[in-house]
Amino acid sequence: MNEADDMQIELHHAWSWTCPVCKTHSYVESVRAQVTDDEIRAELGYDQDDEITEAMREDFICAPDIVTCTKCDGSFMAKIRDVFPHVDEDDDYDGDEDDL
Ligand SMILES: [Zn+2]
Repeated sequence: MNEADDMQIELHHAWSWTCPVCKTHSYVESVRAQVTDDEIRAELGYDQDDEITEAMREDFICAPDIVTCTKCDGSFMAKIRDVFPHVDEDDDYDGDEDDL
């Protein structure tokens, strides 16, 4: 058994993106969201006197505003895909596959 078998690596949240100029696929680390302990409590449904730990704060992350390509050095504004896209309330889709 070599040393690597016993070694555990802590993984961190990251975002991936593809450069629109040189098509290089890259990863960029998440940045910590600027949230107060009260905002964390509200998000998690905790009571006012529940303790917020450093590990809990580290879980509140967001994407950087700008990414820079490591290959061509191009910088781009970053956006996150909308996980819950707006549903048009006028859409009469009723769940039937033949309506798609
Ligand atoms: Zn590039």
